[in-house]
Order: sequence, then C-alpha cells, then structure tokens
Amino acid sequence: MIRYKGLLLEDSYRAQGLRKKLVQDISQKGISDKRVLDAIAKIPRHYFLDSSFLEFAYSDKPFPIGEGQTISQPYTVAFQSQLLQIKAGHKVLEIGTGSGYQAIVLMEMGAKVYSIERVKILYEKAKEFLPLLGYKPKLYYGDGYKGLPRLAPFDRIIVTAAAPEVPHDLLAQLATDGILIIPVGDSNGVQVMKSIHKDSNGVFTEKEHGQFRFVPMLEDKK
Ligand code: SAH
Repeated sequence: MIRYKGLLLEDSYRAQGLRKKLVQDISQKGISDKRVLDAIAKIPRHYFLDSSFLEFAYSDKPFPIGEGQTISQPYTVAFQSQLLQIKAGHKVLEIGTGSGYQAIVLMEMGAKVYSIERVKILYEKAKEFLPLLGYKPKLYYGDGYKGLPRLAPFDRIIVTAAAPEVPHDLLAQLATDGILIIPVGDSNGVQVMKSIHKDSNGVFTEKEHGQFRFVPMLEDKK
C-alpha cells in the first residue's frame, strides 16, 4: 500500500484480476513479447490515473492525466515497447514522460530509462511519484525535439507524442544498431508508427507499422 497526497493506493485482488484480463486482451491483439506482457501484468496502471474507477485503468483505452495530456492506450504502450526490441541494460531515451507509465514498463524490461517531459507540472509529478513506487528513471524537464545530446548515444529512442517529422537531433543521438520508434504525421489526424534502424555504417532504414493517434508534440513552449 502506498500513501500519496492523502490517497491510499492499493493493488487489490480485483485490480490484479482486471489486469490479467487486460494482458490477455492485448496479447490477443497481437503482442507476443513476453517481457512486455509481464511488465504490463506487474505494474498497477490504476496508480497512474486520477480516477478511482479500476474499470478505466484496465480497459484498453487512453486516459486523461491532466494538462490536456493522456496516458497512452495499453495496446499502444505494448506495441511501441515490443518494436523497441529492448535488451537488458539498454540505454533508452523516452520523449514524453507523461504519467511515467511507459517509462516504468521499459524499466521492468531491463532498460535504463532517460525521459523528457515538456509540461512542468507533469515532470514534477513524475519526479515525486515514481520513486514512491520504487522506480527512479532519469527525468528531465525540456524539449524532446532536441533529445539529450550530453548523454547520447542511446541504444533505443521512443517518442510518445505525435511528431510532424522525424527530428534530426534524435537520429543523431542514436547508437550504432540503435532503433528509434516514433509516430509521425499530422497532429490533428492519424500518425504512422515508424521504426528507424541505424546500422554499423550509419545508414538508416525506415519501416512503417500502421496507424495510431497520439497527442501532439509541443514545440518551443516555455
Ligand atoms: N508516455 C506517457 C504518455 C505520453 S502523452 C505515459 O506513459 O503516460 C505525451 C506526452 O508528451 C505528454 O505528457 C506531453 O506533455 C509530452 N510532450 C509533448 N511534447 C513534448 C516535447 N516536445 N518534449 C517532451 N515531451 C513532450
């Protein structure tokens, strides 16, 4: 049981049962990476929502987390996590910390996570809340378009907001044999999920993985 701002967070049997069903649900939708499914089975998603209704936390839907932002749909979190092909010890950069849920999924898969958030209130909440759950990803307040040049290269980079194009700075911060996963397209419509692999000659190969809907990536906001 965890105490947070006068709330008692508890991973009840009912929550665990609903979570098992959610995992079955997303595995039926095509997620096969066992480490992804295990991470989702383990992490109490209801801790990340400002709602006491477990049904919301464990249905396969996005949900508002305040400041006009959302925690991504579990299937989308699983899909991006699977595309990343995480190996234990990988250095992973996430753009869009939001609630911190995606970051924790990646940590459970063995990654060392660095995550950037553009909205200060969300950054501050994640910084305070995630350690209470026993996780300490490295969190940064700033513009994800620019990545974290001082800490590059990264084995993997994941963008969790809709980008109008692939940011050059992020490609530049990818390690050899690195993978970038990013939804690209019009922020008012749908985006195409892209994976970009960098080979040992520094050549990038791009693949497309279907359509998704993300909140827009914010630019130049103070
Ligand atoms: N990964 C999050 C969900 C992300 S929603 C989770 O698991 O909850 C997208 C997030 O990206 C929002 O929190 C939004 O504020 C943030 N964001 C938008 N533009 C950004 C930018 N330029 N740099 C960093 N974060 C950004």
